[in-house]
Amino acid sequence: MTGEPFDVELARKETPGCASVIHLNNAGSSLMPQPVLDAVIDHLRLESRIGGYEAAAEAADDVSGVYASAARLLGCTPQELAVLDSATRAWDLAFYSIPFQQGDRILTSEAEYASNFIAYLQVAQRYGVQVEVVPNDESGQLSVARLRELMDDRVRLVSLTHVPTNGGLVNPAVEVGRVAREAGVLYLLDACQSAGQMPLDVDVLGCDLLSLTGRKYLRGPRGTGLLYVRADRLDELSPPMLDLHAATWVSRDGYEVRPGARRFESWECNYAAKIGLGAAIDYALGWGLASIRDRVYHLADGLRVRLGGIPGVEVRDVGSERCGITSFTAEGLSGEEIKAFMARRGINVSVSRVASTRWDMENRGLDEVVRASVHYYNTIEEIDLFCRTLAEALAS
Ligand SMILES: *Cc1c(COP(=O)(O)O)cnc(C)c1O
Repeated sequence: MTGEPFDVELARKETPGCASVIHLNNAGSSLMPQPVLDAVIDHLRLESRIGGYEAAAEAADDVSGVYASAARLLGCTPQELAVLDSATRAWDLAFYSIPFQQGDRILTSEAEYASNFIAYLQVAQRYGVQVEVVPNDESGQLSVARLRELMDDRVRLVSLTHVPTNGGLVNPAVEVGRVAREAGVLYLLDACQSAGQMPLDVDVLGCDLLSLTGRKYLRGPRGTGLLYVRADRLDELSPPMLDLHAATWVSRDGYEVRPGARRFESWECNYAAKIGLGAAIDYALGWGLASIRDRVYHLADGLRVRLGGIPGVEVRDVGSERCGITSFTAEGLSGEEIKAFMARRGINVSVSRVASTRWDMENRGLDEVVRASVHYYNTIEEIDLFCRTLAEALAS
């Protein structure tokens, strides 16, 4: 704990959406704070006034600032970062640039996100790669002991979802990094749900590749994502596509790939969104990621305790460390019914289904869970109201 009181009032004052909704869908997409909104809209206005290329030139410092800010967020250098339009694209570009060979093994987790697993299956079919899911330990997090047992010299990649899309689990990413490092094996971390919610340092995590999204806990605009590629791993990866931004056409039959991770970017991008991502990262750094984590975990713990006290409701979060994503099921009501009931009262929650985290959901015998994900701008009063509303829905 950082011990400092969190200025919730300020956080809410700077979040226009707090006036209109109780937003418990932060794992889907958070409410943007005013400075992020302003950064995006100001740039769009500038584009409309002076032209898109001219606006990009005028905002060059803000654009390069995105890399500097993200480097501070992740403890890396700006050259190790690429800005993309989603976490999935960032993750894909890293994953599909690995030169897999027949017989290679990929070790991954039960909590894996559907898009990642679909990509594993595609390369498994394409190259004869073996995909193996490391079982969880009794707490429900990836078993580091089992991972260690499964390591051998055929393992080409350890690929882990840090925080899954469907619950509060925080996988032991640092311990996994230690195992991958000892073996010298490439380690790809999907930090989509952890970024913006807790401190992340790529050297502490020991990851070689990391992907994240802008719109979730970072509170950035939609259509933004980031890829981190460790500098000394860059040359063993071959980007699946290159354009005139990722490489230079130096002779009729020659091109040179751009130095650094920006070889994974493409030339065109949404500059307003990119600048907004930078503003969101700066905003998160302003609060401090440890303070954010403490506040978010505190609220989620409170939510779980209250949910546990409602008859018929079962909290479904697993793992020894639990973050801001709270998941539950309720007897007699489907996820969609709960979501709709809440929506009528101005409360946003979402439903997570088996097809987005199939291994985990099937292993736990779950079809769906309701996901109520808190952010630091939520309050205990909102959580109380949400729980009262849920009890009401169950009684109706
Ligand atoms: C949301 C999510 C993604 C995908 O992020 P996008 O920005 O939508 O591409 C990937 N992994 C996990 C664990 C997620 O929750």
